[in-house]
Amino acid sequence: MVLMRPFVAVALLLGSLPLMAQARPEADPLSREIETRMAAVMPRVVAWRRDIHQHPELSGMEVRTAALVEKHLRALGLEVQAQVGKTGVVAVLKGGRPGPVVALRADMDALPVTEQVDLPFKSTVRTQYNGMDVGVMHACGHDNHVAILMGVAEVLAGMKARIPGTVKFIFQPAEEGLGGAKAMVADGVLTNPRPSAIFGLHVFPGPLGSLSTRAGGFMAAADGLEIKVKGRQTHGSQPWSGVDPIVVSSQVILGLQTIASRQIDVTSAPAVITIGSIQGGNRGNIIPDSVMMVGTIRTFDPEMRALIHERVKRTAEDIARSGGATATVTISTGGLITRNDAALLDKMTPTLQRTAGEGGFRIVNPITGSEDFPEYTRDIPGLFYLLGGSPKGSDPRTQPANHSPLFFVDEAALPTGVRAMANLAIDYLRSGGLPVP
Ligand SMILES: [Zn+2]
Ligand SMILES: [Zn+2]
Repeated sequence: MVLMRPFVAVALLLGSLPLMAQARPEADPLSREIETRMAAVMPRVVAWRRDIHQHPELSGMEVRTAALVEKHLRALGLEVQAQVGKTGVVAVLKGGRPGPVVALRADMDALPVTEQVDLPFKSTVRTQYNGMDVGVMHACGHDNHVAILMGVAEVLAGMKARIPGTVKFIFQPAEEGLGGAKAMVADGVLTNPRPSAIFGLHVFPGPLGSLSTRAGGFMAAADGLEIKVKGRQTHGSQPWSGVDPIVVSSQVILGLQTIASRQIDVTSAPAVITIGSIQGGNRGNIIPDSVMMVGTIRTFDPEMRALIHERVKRTAEDIARSGGATATVTISTGGLITRNDAALLDKMTPTLQRTAGEGGFRIVNPITGSEDFPEYTRDIPGLFYLLGGSPKGSDPRTQPANHSPLFFVDEAALPTGVRAMANLAIDYLRSGGLPVP
């Protein structure tokens, strides 16, 4: 503050506005053109977002959304391919100047959640899900992702002749645990042309217009865990005549908690092991034959993930054996760890700093939720970042989380979403990109 004062005084003397405008790094022609084109497209980005929000579709059923996206991309004159990975849409924008290829990804699916937010464009859609009548809602905010990327496509298509390279737009179905990214990759979304980097964003309850990310493990791998402890059933009054799986399971649960606290290097990455369900027995005077436990494992580092899987197995089996029981451990590997490429983040940090809204650019702690974005980054570098959407003046920590029926994104965050993604694409391309892996 103290250092700023003399500058402000000089700036006022010279006429502060032109001087400050010149000093701002986005004053280069391509960034300025993004701003001009954004101003024209933002009202439609808001309208698309409201329309998509009001017409949410569950994973793998994004037919209306995909049709809206496809129509828009075709109208922009892009090379469009529909029904990629079932309902996905891909478009290629070939710039007028030579350069690398970059991919931008948005997910399109909604969730079986009944909306409780009081909006004029609130979803009233209902469906049958797992035999239950439920509402359908964009409770993860993917409506914003689609509208933002449609806006970015229009901004960049308008400045095509000056773009040094190629932009691939990926509108993905079925992110919510149903393999949308995997299906698109299997359908060749990363070939012809092959991008040398990919960017993706997600809205979340954070300071309005903030951009948050980190290098390395950013979002967790979520692995399912099932442990069956088999003892031998007997009378509750005579435990010595059987093997009590309830006591053994209690020891197993406590043993599992020593993996994260005692057996991994806590300075390198966090990990969570949770047993969320335990079932065994049906009355007080019967020691049951077996106990079933179900849980989840969240990790941020591939080596640690493998080590934890091995330790979970060893801990459960050996503790059970010590009590004369057996434990059968099944770990179902879920999604991959969302890992941000450090070199790519380094390269793009000035862009994120420059384009973040009032909430600023922030390096944040890892998030124990998971994403299917890393399906694209198995062999190309990727950068995934969060866009804060909490209403101005609210405390993001008290805002309903993604997947809540009260989840809400303030549309004042949308301009930052478009600005950041469009500038990331342009700045990446004009930097010459990263070598194609
Ligand atoms: Zn979600
Ligand atoms: Zn999501």
